[in-house]
Amino acid sequence: MMDLHTRTLTELAAGLEKGEFTSVELTNALLDRIARHNDKLNAFVTVTTDEALAAAARADTARASGSGGVLNGLPIIHKDIFCTRGIKTSCGSKMLDNFISPYDATVVENLANAGAVVLGKSNMDEFAMGSSNETSYFGPVRNPWDLERSPGGSSGGSSASVAARFAPAATGTDTGGSIRQPAALTGTVGIKPTYGRVSRYGMIAFASSLDQAGVITRSAEDAALMLGVMAGFDERDSTSIDEPVPDYVAGLGESIEGLRVGIVRQHFDAGLDAECGARVKESIAVLESLGATTVEVDLPNIDMSVPTYYVVAPAECSSNLSRYDGVRFGYRAENPEDLLDLYCRSRGEGFGDEVKRRIMTGTYVLSAGYYDAYYLKAQQVRQLIANDFKEAFANVDVIAGPTAPTPAFKLGDKVDDPITMYLNDIYTIGANLAGLPAISVPCGFVNELPVGLHLVGTHFAESTLLRCAHQYQQHTDHHKACPEDFQ
Ligand code: GLN
Repeated sequence: MMDLHTRTLTELAAGLEKGEFTSVELTNALLDRIARHNDKLNAFVTVTTDEALAAAARADTARASGSGGVLNGLPIIHKDIFCTRGIKTSCGSKMLDNFISPYDATVVENLANAGAVVLGKSNMDEFAMGSSNETSYFGPVRNPWDLERSPGGSSGGSSASVAARFAPAATGTDTGGSIRQPAALTGTVGIKPTYGRVSRYGMIAFASSLDQAGVITRSAEDAALMLGVMAGFDERDSTSIDEPVPDYVAGLGESIEGLRVGIVRQHFDAGLDAECGARVKESIAVLESLGATTVEVDLPNIDMSVPTYYVVAPAECSSNLSRYDGVRFGYRAENPEDLLDLYCRSRGEGFGDEVKRRIMTGTYVLSAGYYDAYYLKAQQVRQLIANDFKEAFANVDVIAGPTAPTPAFKLGDKVDDPITMYLNDIYTIGANLAGLPAISVPCGFVNELPVGLHLVGTHFAESTLLRCAHQYQQHTDHHKACPEDFQ
């Protein structure tokens, strides 16, 4: 059973079902792998060894008595942005380094109810603000494909863990690309569902109108299995949508014959690395060989998506992060002189540079005299971008393009240049602004570094995206490649 880490979630589910191994054996095997290899990657804030083994034992008992959910005994990892009862939830920040949540996020609860075993909490950019994992208070995560490079961000601990075979699935969150960009940079699958599809309750807020939970796996089939458990209406989240959750796994086998794939001209312009563009075009040709047809589509306002996002997201973040005041929870400065000093020093000492930059930008764009010029204008442009997508989806079923402009970049390369860093999300941010579901699928390599194909669908078209990705993976094997040091 030396090969357990190489199996997908679906394969592991079948192995457990057949009694080939127990959840305790599987959990031990992966915890052992994490203990041996995590020093190279720094993918975890917390490894929950004892809790995982206890949950695995419970899962084995449930199975023996003929009960247990669809993920019974299967190991997963949670991004450290999801509140976990009794376990530290840091959100990658010094501010929450001492925070033990008194409750579980709905995503955590849903997965636990299905029997999943949580191996730990993954490292991430501070408050999910970043594209490289370098803003984490706990230090950067390294990319298993090249330890000098970033695994992407902000869900970099999750993407690196799945790529390194620490677990077959890890949760993530995506405000502007934080599931899909790290998935692309690590050769994994990452899906961000429609806004409102998965509950945000207990998911620490960054920009509430953009944040959405999703998952990183190695196959679209596994993503379908996970999403089916995570999704659903939650009365504790006022933006959760009361739509039945389809069986995402059931439709995967259907052919994509006749699927209309939109290609956005602007996505293949100068900003895209030529070799990445070539891999993406090859993958679109594969879709065509499977019966899909391509149609050129126009998103005339898409060039405005990055500047629009960098007004809306900081504005919402400045409001959301006002709750960290050193009084109720989180970091508190020592020996404050008075209340104002307590606020100022707790925030000054507890937040890192990128978070401060966002709070300052957000406070500025919301301030009297600038609100109309920046925030209101950004909201108007956001609507135009959403309208562009709506028009495009009148003629196509999915829009295909690159997930990120380049393969994984070196740690340190972009960290001092926020604009260059922000441009990493140029292809992913539109889906967040419009609330659309999107997936990144491994589609080849450039200089031995993975590249991702990005597919966007209309609202609630997760099934179409997963089916398209699954059919693509049935005819390609990029997702089976494993980084050399992590075989
Ligand atoms: N990289 C983007 C940012 O820094 C998106 C982050 C995210 O999706 N959480 O805001």
